This record gives sequence, C-alpha cells and structure tokens, in this order.
Amino acid sequence: MNFIQAGPELANQYTDDRCLRAYLVRALPAAMRAAIEPDLESLGAHAAQAWRGARSRPRSEPALTQWDAWGERIDRIEITPTWREGAALTARYGFVAAGHDTRFAEFARIDQFARVYLYHVASEFYTCPLAMSDGAATALKASGNRALIDRAVPHLLARDPSLLWLSGQWMTETAGGSDVGSTETIARRGSDGRWRLSGRKWFTSAVVGEMALTLARPEGASHGTDALALFYVETRARDGRWNGIRIDRLKDKLGTRELPTAEIHLDGTLAEPVGELSHGVRLIAPVLNVTRTWNTICALATMRRCLALATDYARRRHAFGRPLIEQPLHAATLASLHAEFAAAFEFGFFVVALLGRVEAGIASEDERALLRLLTPLAKLWTGKLAVEIASEACEAFGGAGYIENTGIPQLLRDAQVYPIWEGTTNVLALDALRVLAKGGIDPYRRAIEDVLRETRAHPQAIDAALAAAARWLHDHDGAAREAGARGLALTLARIFAATLLARARDDGDEDADAALVLFLDHGLDRLAGKNVAHTSALLR
Ligand SMILES: Cc1cc2nc3c(=O)[nH]c(=O)nc-3n(C[C@H](O)[C@H](O)[C@H](O)COP(=O)(O)OP(=O)(O)OC[C@H]3O[C@@H](n4cnc5c(N)ncnc54)[C@H](O)[C@@H]3O)c2cc1C
Repeated sequence: MNFIQAGPELANQYTDDRCLRAYLVRALPAAMRAAIEPDLESLGAHAAQAWRGARSRPRSEPALTQWDAWGERIDRIEITPTWREGAALTARYGFVAAGHDTRFAEFARIDQFARVYLYHVASEFYTCPLAMSDGAATALKASGNRALIDRAVPHLLARDPSLLWLSGQWMTETAGGSDVGSTETIARRGSDGRWRLSGRKWFTSAVVGEMALTLARPEGASHGTDALALFYVETRARDGRWNGIRIDRLKDKLGTRELPTAEIHLDGTLAEPVGELSHGVRLIAPVLNVTRTWNTICALATMRRCLALATDYARRRHAFGRPLIEQPLHAATLASLHAEFAAAFEFGFFVVALLGRVEAGIASEDERALLRLLTPLAKLWTGKLAVEIASEACEAFGGAGYIENTGIPQLLRDAQVYPIWEGTTNVLALDALRVLAKGGIDPYRRAIEDVLRETRAHPQAIDAALAAAARWLHDHDGAAREAGARGLALTLARIFAATLLARARDDGDEDADAALVLFLDHGLDRLAGKNVAHTSALLR
C-alpha cells in the first residue's frame, strides 16, 4: 500500500488566530469585544468550512452572456455560488455597515476590519465590491450632497440583503490607471439639464453592482486631472435595463477569477455630479483611502491563511525521519514569515484604528497627518509581503504547493493583485513622498516617540533606522529622491511596525516578543541611494 499524505486542515480561523485575538484584547474595550466575539467565532468557522468546501467541488467562474436567443443585447453576468451568498453574509455581519456604526465610535473600524479579515479569503474577492461600496459611502458622506447621501448611503450600509447595494469605482481607462488625468470619458449636459457619460472604462470590478462613482471630463473642460469631475451612476434604469452601459467582455485574469472584472462602454449613461464640476479626484480620494485600507487587511488575511496552512502541513508532513516542523531550517523559515506577518498585522490594524479615530472626530492634527502617510505605506508593504509569503507557502508544500487542487496556487495568483490595484507600489511610494514633502516627517517621528515612551526598552535598531531615513530624505531630492521612494516607504513602514511590536511585547504579548526579535533580524532599513545615472545606463 502506497503512503498517502494527509493534507493541511484549517481550524476555526478566529479561535486559532493568536495574533488577532491578542490584538483585540489590547485594542477594544472588554464589553465590546465580548459583544462581537460570537460573530467573529462564527466567521472563523465559516472560513474553515468554506476552505474545505472549495476543495471538494470544481471551481466556478462568472460568465457573461451578451445576446439572448433572439438577438437582443442583454449583457447578463452569471456570478458564482459563493458570490450569490455575499449579500446575505454582508447584511448579517455588517462587513460595510459595521465600519459606519456610530454606537462603537472610534472602535467601529476595528470591529469591521476584524470581520473583513476573517471573511476575505472565503469570499472569493466579494470583498472587492464591498471595499468600493464602503469607499463610496464614505465619499458620499464627505461630499455633503444631501440628495445622493439620502438616496444611496442607506443601501450601501443596509443590514437587510434585499436592500443592499454594491458600488463600483470606475477610474481606470485604456490610457491611464495610475495617471487618471488621461481620462477620455466625456460628460455632456443635455437640453433636459441631465448629464450623460460617453467613454470606455477598462477595468470595472463591480459592474454587477447597483451604482458606481466614476470620473469624466465635462464637455469643454480643459485637459489634466483638476478638470475631471466625479459622477454618480446607477447601473440600471427603472425598467431594469442597463443605463447606457455595454459590457464588452470579462477580463481573463491571472487570479481573482471569481470576481467579474469587466471592460465596458458608457454610451449616454445618465449620471449626476457628486459635487463641483472639477476636482473630481479630490472628491474620490476618500474612496481610495478606504479601499487601500481594505487592501491592507485583505493582504493580511491571505498571509495568515498561507501561514496557517503551511504550519499545519509542517506538522503532518515527515521528511528525513521527523515532521518538517522539527527540521530546524524549515521551522526557522516559517517562523521568519510569521514574524513579518505579525509586524505587518500590527501596522495594518494600527492604520484601521487611526482611521476610526479620524472618522470619529477625536484625532489630533498629528494623527490626521499620520494617517495620510501610513495608509499608502501599509497598502504598499502588505501588498508586496502577501505575494512573498504566498510564494514561500507554495514552496513550503513542496511539489504539492504547485498543484492546483490543493488550493495553494490560487492563494499566490490571487495575492498578486494586492500590489497592483488601488495604486501600484511605486504610485503609493510617490504618494507617501508627496505627503512627506508637504507635512514633513515630524508627525511620523512624534508618533513613534509617543509609542516608545510607553515601552520599557526600545530597540536601538529603531532609532538607527529612523535617523537613517531622516538623513536620506535630507540628502536626496529631485530624481534621486523619486528613484529611492520605494526603499524609503518600505523602511518607514518597517520602522513603524517594529515600534508597534515593541509596544505589544510590553503589553504582555509573548508572540510579539518573539516576532520582534526575528523581525529586527531581517533589518528595518531598505534605503538605498538610487544612482539615477547608472539606472539610465542599464535601460539604454
Ligand atoms: C483584477 C483587477 C481589478 C481592477 N478593478 C478595477 C476597478 O474596479 N476600477 C478601476 O478603476 N480600476 C480597476 N483596476 C485597475 C487598476 O487599478 C490599475 O490597473 C492600476 O491602478 C494601474 O494602472 P494601469 O493598469 O494603467 O498601469 P500603469 O499606470 O500604466 O502603470 C504601469 C507601471 O508603471 C508604474 N508607474 C506608473 N506611474 C509611475 C510613476 N510616476 N513613477 C514610477 N512608476 C510609475 C506603475 O507602478 C506600474 O508598475 C483593476 C485591476 C485589476 C488587476
């Protein structure tokens, strides 16, 4: 009889997650934690059961039918069974609504993102339209447009699935995703006083939703980013037909294949301006801050899933006479990934907590400035780290990690989206540089000092890396500064994460103690003087 290897198993993803549980003990008032814990346990059970379920049936993908049997254009998108459960789960657990729940004031975002973190991998990226819906609710509230707030926000935050709406965020066009200033979509005002949009949106991940926020250039406006306006669109007319929208095709993607990402044409799509008829990018900025935070937490969820599976497998798989977990090098490899994850987790949830404080109106000026810097840093670092950890997880399974129906390759393919959408690594590194150019590094430095003031012994490596980062900023400008922005961003993220781990250690978290030692072993400093002359020599 040939040997049969036992596959990895997932326990309840809430009760099994020491990192999340220890964090919630530190971050939330005890009564609130007790109140939300049954939901978190139930989501942890759902995650484990969804993983087992997905291994036991063929995968399904969304499908577009453009024409009916009689030649009428219908553009119907069939979604997957998991997606069909999405609205009910969202309404029940409040994946969007919890973040706006004023009963929990500054803790609402922590509650929400603990739920999202547990749900994400099981959701087959249903979290993508949820992120955009959360962003849309946030942006509409900030816009002050009373009519649109009353019309859309109650649907976006609904706790009844029959009322729930999803929103898209249609920014990327063929000419530009990072550079939205190249937007070609035109908004024209008709003789009836209504606005209609014409153009092509190249990546629309939530075209199955009921609404979208989108950028367009009012007819006759000048070129460039500032002249773009933000519009509100409902995807369907009253009779249920598409509102001047044609679905050209669904994209054939490397990962996130359950998520229907469409290329669409807008052809006379009725739309309403959200605010003034310019500076649309400024109006849509709250969407981006929120979706970038979702990206951070979803990247953490992927890392945690990879580590949970790889660590369980290392206990079941034997090589050279003992379980892999007892092979010193394999154990050290996994532990070093755990340390990176633990640091990123502290950082990601610090940003979540800070967002909650800012939205609750209790944050200081320094904290507001800090959020502007940390949001892109968290998104860019966790996006890259998720790919690295998912790749290591594949290897930790050996050949099995390369085999489709173990479920491991999908984690890697899906992870590759985190560094791309919602702003690529470089685009976010430049964003962070702009924040630093405007507000300086002092709010960041003061935040670190504040955290460290409470710690019993703070690692010298933090001081050294912080001094090096400040010196680097001082010594570089122009093209050299831009060329090194990614290294600077990663360094600032790592310094802050180490600081937070030191605080968690002092709060009695034993895992944070071990994670800090290993994290510091990997070093904080990712700065490098980018020599622009040599760069261009190589790319000649
Ligand atoms: C699965 C998926 C779903 C998506 N869903 C949506 C959606 O629903 N709505 C939506 O609007 N968009 C969506 N996008 C699009 C996504 O946001 C864009 O692809 C992304 O912002 C990058 O834009 P781009 O593709 O035009 O790349 P480009 O902007 O052409 O970037 C190409 C490369 O150049 C780099 N780069 C660009 N500018 C600079 C610079 N100044 N300095 C240094 N490097 C630079 C980038 O980092 C990148 O590596 C989705 C993408 C994917 C993959």
